[in-house]
Amino acid sequence: MTVRVGIPRGLLYYYYGPLWTEFFESLGAEVVISAETNKKIVEMGVKSTVDEACLPVKIYHGHVKDLMDQKVDYIFLPRLMSVYKNEYICPKFCGLPEMVNHSIRNLPTMIQPTIDFRKSKKDLPKIVEAVGAYFTDDRRKIEWAFTKALENYRQYKTALRQGILPTEALEKKDEKNFELLKSSDKVALLGHPYNLYDAFVSMNLVEKLRGHGLQVLTPESMDVKVMNEKAALMDKKMFWSFGRKILGTAFYAMEQQDIQGIIYLSSFGCGLDSVLADIVERRVRRNSDKPFTLLTLDEHTGEAGMDTRIEAFVDMIKWRRNHENNFSAYGQHLHSY
Ligand code: SF4
Repeated sequence: MTVRVGIPRGLLYYYYGPLWTEFFESLGAEVVISAETNKKIVEMGVKSTVDEACLPVKIYHGHVKDLMDQKVDYIFLPRLMSVYKNEYICPKFCGLPEMVNHSIRNLPTMIQPTIDFRKSKKDLPKIVEAVGAYFTDDRRKIEWAFTKALENYRQYKTALRQGILPTEALEKKDEKNFELLKSSDKVALLGHPYNLYDAFVSMNLVEKLRGHGLQVLTPESMDVKVMNEKAALMDKKMFWSFGRKILGTAFYAMEQQDIQGIIYLSSFGCGLDSVLADIVERRVRRNSDKPFTLLTLDEHTGEAGMDTRIEAFVDMIKWRRNHENNFSAYGQHLHSY
């Protein structure tokens, strides 16, 4: 009988989903991805977690419960400490396995390797072998499966850099929206991937912006070298990986003539966002005249209110483009018509 391994469609699924999926499938397992986020998943997640948890962590718990309803044999839930040298992931990722293990009863067997590449990636082969051993004791098959998985992952990242959304790339809808990707009206959309690309959580923000004829630049569509160069402009090194990506994208966007506004999508209860959004807003105010808006999500956020704010922001961008390009959103500069 084929073994079924569940992957929660939350948090870094939007980064590493294709890697993990290809690996497990190449080892002969059936991969079950939890359902797209919906009201029931959010409610199950909220009920399973402490109030203090941020929205994405609550939702992640809901995805674990969805996989349990689908009767999987295993759930893959790695402990992500660090995925880049000398950087850290948010502390909530480090404690995620414990949070889930203690919050949800009757879990199936959990596969929970620790990923800590802060000093080096030298342990990667051991981690791969240990995870693969749940499915086979053939070490060469495990190596081969991981090589295939890495290739799939590289293709996915290349697609993202072309401006294709993770959700589109995951579904291999790579031809979609090419018309809009060429639009000369652009905005930068900043935030964590699990907020930006989860259509339920973001209330389809990317699609709504595209619907207004705007091309959307996100950290995942940035050239990595450029993003890192811009992030290095901070006086002090940003040691959170997400922080580096968000700041690098923000600083790049501030300098681009064709990017007409910057939106930061944040989650209520996110410690990183409270720091990062403040840095971005101050820099945008100080160094550019681009409109900036911060949209904060929680489980009670209403779509109508969000739509009103998006429409007002888009109207302002279009008004500025049609009337005067150098009109300050903050009243710091005087211009005459
Ligand atoms: S970075 Fe923020 S939103 Fe993401 S897991 Fe950490 S606290 Fe939650």
